[in-house]
Amino acid sequence: MNSENKQMHVDYLIIGAGLAGITLKHFLKNDRTVILDPDPAAYKVGESFIPETFHHPEMQTLLSGIKRLPSFSVKMGTTFVSHNSVASFPVPIEGQEFSLHVGRAELENYMLKYWNIPVKKERVREINLDTMTVQTNECTYTVEKQILDCSGASMVVARELDQKIEVQPTYATWTYFDVVENDSSKFWKFVQDSGRQYKRYTVKRRVLPNAEEDGWEPAHSTILMQLSDALWSWQIPLYNKKLLSFGLVSRDGKISADTLFDVAEKTHLPHYTLARRTQDNSTPYNRVHTRNRFTNRAQTPATMKYILIADACAFSDPVYSVGGGLAVNKAIEVAALLNDGGWTPSKCSSWCDDFERLYQRSLDAFKLWYSGAMLTDDSAAQEINDNFLSGSAFQVGVATHYSDVIENSTLQEFLDPNRQSDATGLSHAEASAQVADLLGVNDDSTLAGWSYHGSIAIPDGLQHRWQMDGLPELIINTQISADVTQYYRRVGDITLSFMNLWDGPYPLDARGRALFDALEAAIDEQMDAWLALKP
Ligand SMILES: Cc1cc2nc3c(=O)[nH]c(=O)nc-3n(C[C@H](O)[C@H](O)[C@H](O)COP(=O)(O)OP(=O)(O)OC[C@H]3O[C@@H](n4cnc5c(N)ncnc54)[C@H](O)[C@@H]3O)c2cc1C
Repeated sequence: MNSENKQMHVDYLIIGAGLAGITLKHFLKNDRTVILDPDPAAYKVGESFIPETFHHPEMQTLLSGIKRLPSFSVKMGTTFVSHNSVASFPVPIEGQEFSLHVGRAELENYMLKYWNIPVKKERVREINLDTMTVQTNECTYTVEKQILDCSGASMVVARELDQKIEVQPTYATWTYFDVVENDSSKFWKFVQDSGRQYKRYTVKRRVLPNAEEDGWEPAHSTILMQLSDALWSWQIPLYNKKLLSFGLVSRDGKISADTLFDVAEKTHLPHYTLARRTQDNSTPYNRVHTRNRFTNRAQTPATMKYILIADACAFSDPVYSVGGGLAVNKAIEVAALLNDGGWTPSKCSSWCDDFERLYQRSLDAFKLWYSGAMLTDDSAAQEINDNFLSGSAFQVGVATHYSDVIENSTLQEFLDPNRQSDATGLSHAEASAQVADLLGVNDDSTLAGWSYHGSIAIPDGLQHRWQMDGLPELIINTQISADVTQYYRRVGDITLSFMNLWDGPYPLDARGRALFDALEAAIDEQMDAWLALKP
């Protein structure tokens, strides 16, 4: 159909259904929002995810399904390797269940289905900010509120405004190898034989190279290797360590396919024995991919007419594999701001200021990597670990806005009583009723002075919301899985943990502890009934 014939009025128009766009569409509570992407859930690069991607509790409900996707592979940390050192950054213990390696197309497809997000398969062709109209190959949209640009590296709005600025020419080429064999002992032998200094950060403690003592598997790590000042590689396992994504990123010009294969075969870490795949283009894993000059930023991150989110605003992650986490969290933050009374000049200006701060931190972080400082200097390593690998550089806004989200009852929809949990098959209403029965809080009565606000199913357990006057909401998990590594208390087979959703430690004072005591006693008395809640 001719685009001039079809017209549509919307409040918000989301351009692009990558991680940022999908997340934004889901969290934005507005029926007059349309999301466009000519090719939703198509192949994309970026398969390593830091735990902060799943910072928001609603993101966590996706995890059990994501871990069942064929391309999933465990991620327990990031390992940086240079010519003279190996630095391993394990995922902090509280994040171990939330970090992973997975194929981006599978992940996005899962999110679209799980959240039931309808994407219009249209490509934005032209934007007129004076008339607030956006033209696609199918339709002309008139946007009443804001254009939300999530178009990633295409930077549709910035490009239209001629406001795309190149940060530093950077080039990437990558492909996939079959992993024929994976033998951790070869990694440890390489570390010792090559004389590289080995550091394992948590960040406070360091241990000597010793596979048994450490007990971590190199193939459960994203590996980033500095090959020269201007060249580094990534090695990311997929499909339960059977497929390896190997890429080169250069600040020194384009990389040919021949160079890629040559460098990959000579420098991949020796615990992997690799085999080339047929290069017949039959799947995205059977070809070489190239992305050149991708580190760009937009001049103005937002105005009253548009908001640029994630890569549509700036590529702020050429090294640390945090772009996906950043995209998700920035989208949640924008949704919370818009849900809370819409976009205002003051929100717009603080969004722009926040962006500049984050952007400067990113630039500083890249310098630490390219100078090699993060492999040799503990304070540089700590900064990178805290700010990027653990996500503090971008979680503050989310923590702040998450409280707004709760206040605005957005989570009521999350607790839609009819919504069936993917993890247990229990609807939220069923889970809440069963827990309320077990705890005797199904009327107005409280437990240790805390009122109960319902439960949702999470992998291998339940997540419960509690409220007490003067304290932020306390979210407690009761999980049965033996894999739960972090817990506050263990009661028989059940671990009790609490989630830290705030900017800083949860104020777990005597009132909070009293709730844990009461829960512990209640679970202890009725252990069988709690175990029966297991999926
Ligand atoms: C080489 C490389 C390796 C990376 N590795 C990692 C990694 O391991 N881990 C990690 O977390 N991050 C990684 N990143 C960064 C990560 O990929 C991005 O930060 C992330 O994808 C940004 O998400 P997004 O939603 O902003 O954009 P995207 O995921 O790029 O999504 C943008 C969407 O917009 C759509 N679109 C584009 N133009 C239009 C148009 N005109 N009309 C409508 N729709 C349009 C596209 O089809 C696409 O679906 C890597 C990036 C690169 C370049």
